Amino acid sequence: ENTKTKQIIEQTDKFGANNYHPLPIVIAKAEGVWVESPEGNRYMDMLSAYSAVNQGHRHPKIIQALKDQADKVTLTSRAFHNDQLGPWYEKICQLTNKNMALPMNTGAEAVETALKAARRWGYDVKGIAENQAEIIACVGNFHGRTMGAVSLSSDPEYKRGFGPMLPGINLIPYGDLEALKGAITPNTAAFLIEPIQGEAGIILPPEGFLKAASDLCKENNVLFIADEIQVGLARTGKMFACDWEDVNPDMLILGKALGGGVFPISCVVANSDILGVFNPGSHGSTFGGNPLACAVSLAALAVIEEEKLAERSLEIGQYFFDLLQSIDNPKIKTIRGRGLFIGVELTEAARPYCEQLKEEGLLCKETHDTVIRFAPPLTITIEEIDWAFEKIKTVLS
Ligand code: PLP
Repeated sequence: ENTKTKQIIEQTDKFGANNYHPLPIVIAKAEGVWVESPEGNRYMDMLSAYSAVNQGHRHPKIIQALKDQADKVTLTSRAFHNDQLGPWYEKICQLTNKNMALPMNTGAEAVETALKAARRWGYDVKGIAENQAEIIACVGNFHGRTMGAVSLSSDPEYKRGFGPMLPGINLIPYGDLEALKGAITPNTAAFLIEPIQGEAGIILPPEGFLKAASDLCKENNVLFIADEIQVGLARTGKMFACDWEDVNPDMLILGKALGGGVFPISCVVANSDILGVFNPGSHGSTFGGNPLACAVSLAALAVIEEEKLAERSLEIGQYFFDLLQSIDNPKIKTIRGRGLFIGVELTEAARPYCEQLKEEGLLCKETHDTVIRFAPPLTITIEEIDWAFEKIKTVLS
């Protein structure tokens, strides 16, 4: 009866590069928190495309913005101005309380942009000697798959066969303030951190670390860069995960939900004393800042604000967290997270559980082998959480 699904998976496996290991499900339709297979089987999406669909699948306002803009102009390149980029700049700066932004398309590209900005700031503003700039990042980080991003990684499997890596990178254990102190040298341009490590398995730093690290960076004239591509834009119950410790990063990297899961857009936001280091010819992207992405992003941001998705995430996340904690199973090691960004760490592989949850109609994905990540669209209702919890209880009890 699953012939269409089977056929599509076979075709995908036959012609596609083997760089993913998806669950054996094909999604042909989606709306809100629900997705549907070609055969019409419905599933609840508890991954949200790695938090790109915070606003829910195909949010009507975002789709309307896409359609309206598609009827006007979609791409101009940055050789010319377009009428959507200015309003988008102003909006993203207002939202982040910064005065300069630089749009790209994917998260990894925005990370590359931040690395370039930090290095050039190191030379032009801080006065580091040519080619000596250093970046500090954290063990277990995930900043994407481009050469710069994999150079930052501590995971040998992310790097194997791709060398030589970018030099000038130092890693410290995540959340270790003393290690950060020890790693800062006069050549350090920036400290790059995920305020919560997503791909590493929803790892929270010790309380107070973000604030202390940000203060330490300030004292040492080092840029504090927050990669909020996955945890920003309401996912953790605040607009930005750094807000949990009232940290105002020097540079903020955003992506994923910035386009509402409808169109790719990412960006770096900072003040002009930092992002001002770019000049014409030093950076860019053909699609970066295109009018379709900007129009979609303006709608995506409006939905986050109008529907108070940060507050929702906090409230419903707490409700969900408490339910999960009521499950009595010695195979559950810990449950951790913030808002609707929850990791359940098991004492054994999480994949079989994700496969069973799929059979129950719930889609989620294991991360780093033993963690099940629950990150539904932030538009999810209490009733839907209750529905999901019944399934989770069945599989995890
Ligand atoms: N940074 C973080 C924290 C991420 O979670 C991701 C994607 O999962 C990226 C960067 C890379 O984003 P993209 O896949 O859009 O390149």
